[in-house]
Amino acid sequence: MTNKEIAQRFAELADLLEFKDENAFKVRSYRRVARVLEDLSEDVAELAEKGTLEDLPGVGEATAKKIAEYLETGRIRRLEEAREGVPEGIAEVLGIQGVGPKKAAMLFKELGIGSVDELEEAAREHRLRDLPGMGEKTEQNILRGIRIARSGTERMRLDVALDAAAMVIDHLEGKQGLVSRITPAGSLRRRRETIGDVDLLAVGDDPAAIIDEFTSGPYVADVLLAGETKASVVVEGDPHPQVDLRVVDADEFGSALQYFTGSQAHNINLRGLAKKRGMKISEYGLFEGDDRIASAEEEDIYRALDMALIPPELREDQGEIEAALDGSLPDLVEPDDIRGDFHVHSDWSDGRNTIEEIAEAARERGLRFVAITDHSRSLTVANGLTEERVREQIEQIERVNRSLSDLQVLAGSEVDIRSDGSLDLPDDLLAELDVVIAAIHTGFKQPRRQITDRLVAAAEHPHVDIIAHPSGRLIGRRDPYDLDVPELIRACARTGTALEINANPERLDLTDGYCRMARAQGVRLAIGSDAHGVEALRLIDLGVAVARRGWLEKDDVLNTRPEPQLPKRQAGEA
Ligand SMILES: [Zn+2]
Ligand SMILES: [Zn+2]
Repeated sequence: MTNKEIAQRFAELADLLEFKDENAFKVRSYRRVARVLEDLSEDVAELAEKGTLEDLPGVGEATAKKIAEYLETGRIRRLEEAREGVPEGIAEVLGIQGVGPKKAAMLFKELGIGSVDELEEAAREHRLRDLPGMGEKTEQNILRGIRIARSGTERMRLDVALDAAAMVIDHLEGKQGLVSRITPAGSLRRRRETIGDVDLLAVGDDPAAIIDEFTSGPYVADVLLAGETKASVVVEGDPHPQVDLRVVDADEFGSALQYFTGSQAHNINLRGLAKKRGMKISEYGLFEGDDRIASAEEEDIYRALDMALIPPELREDQGEIEAALDGSLPDLVEPDDIRGDFHVHSDWSDGRNTIEEIAEAARERGLRFVAITDHSRSLTVANGLTEERVREQIEQIERVNRSLSDLQVLAGSEVDIRSDGSLDLPDDLLAELDVVIAAIHTGFKQPRRQITDRLVAAAEHPHVDIIAHPSGRLIGRRDPYDLDVPELIRACARTGTALEINANPERLDLTDGYCRMARAQGVRLAIGSDAHGVEALRLIDLGVAVARRGWLEKDDVLNTRPEPQLPKRQAGEA
């Protein structure tokens, strides 16, 4: 029995009593007991045994009895009484940021709100704002609190944020002469793997008109705030992303963009550097005394500090300022450098499109090669291919290739790494394929040693070209498996195996920091869209974003070659 557990009971008791508008003195005293127990360094059960509970601040005879009761029976009768007559959903309502017991009680009394669903409906219908002590702002805060509680996180996936930003930018740019510039800032511009709120920065002659258009766009689900030069809306989508727009003066666009792009750590470092040179930096510009020496373009600011423009993806205070100062910033890979995709599923396994459709879509995207990497036989849930079907598919791909002149379809496999580290298809068949990517899809819970051995064994296999989605994580849904990533990177360096950057926005894995580690050891990265439908081929740009955050240059990324130059196969051919 932990102190925390008992503390929670007392906190709940205080909430319930407050909700019921019972004795305020008791509410305060139970809340105090909860805090005391929470911070207590000794075991409350030991104190009870010694009979010294009442020595604790705020604990009197009656409270000591309740603690003893809980220690003996696991219940507190007073708490169970307090729960009576309170709708079950109220506990959840009390868990929403911005809703305390008093507010919950008022909402229940005035509007009969007894659950989060009812609360959301009332807020959306603007029925909360007219209640005493509440307003538009409270209503919006409550909606935001609900969103956070539902998604379990304040952050959204990168693709969701990008789509929300594009929707708003398209709308505003579609209005003649409204905005002269508009761009994402913040973590979205830095392409972090998850985003809090979408930050946009705009310039235009009539800020009020921009704010007006922004807050009345067809995408708006809710307007949280509409000021003179700043507004926040919640847009349609799942989860509903929050988009903040700020309108700035044209001659302060650069300094504002620099400031609002962050990261905070990067900006602190930059500010320190400016200070050392007797300069000051803010969202309004770079100043020497009262003289503004740079502000219109971001580049001007960095140049005035003797450095090249630092790409937003690098602005995490990971040595980029030092690199910019000594002229050693990497020449980052660009989306336009991409010539191929190493990871696509067709309707032969769990994809939705035929090989011909994939080839056509890849050609339209300007690719020179695309690898069909369907699942292997043991992944029956994904309609994995048996040996015979892999052989049939190789023939089919040969036929498709005969009809194409400017695109090469590669016969590949996303072969399953079985729990003992062996592969799911025989060696002679793997040797016949153009590209083999190996991945773990089962046994995620294995201990670290076992998982690491499995992946290292796959890397050591002579026919495995790429280890796909190395950590197995699904952002917000599944933690990475317990893998010694540095050991896998060393194995890849030793064997010439590439590591994948899986561009699926739920994966984005290998992650940026490890990309940098891999690069330092000469390991090549291969980006795979892992598309299960042709519309997802475009997601490869998200993989490029991870590569850029990982300081990768064009040469580090195998997709930038017009032909798939896989290190192991080349070594074999040489
Ligand atoms: Zn996979
Ligand atoms: Zn896949």
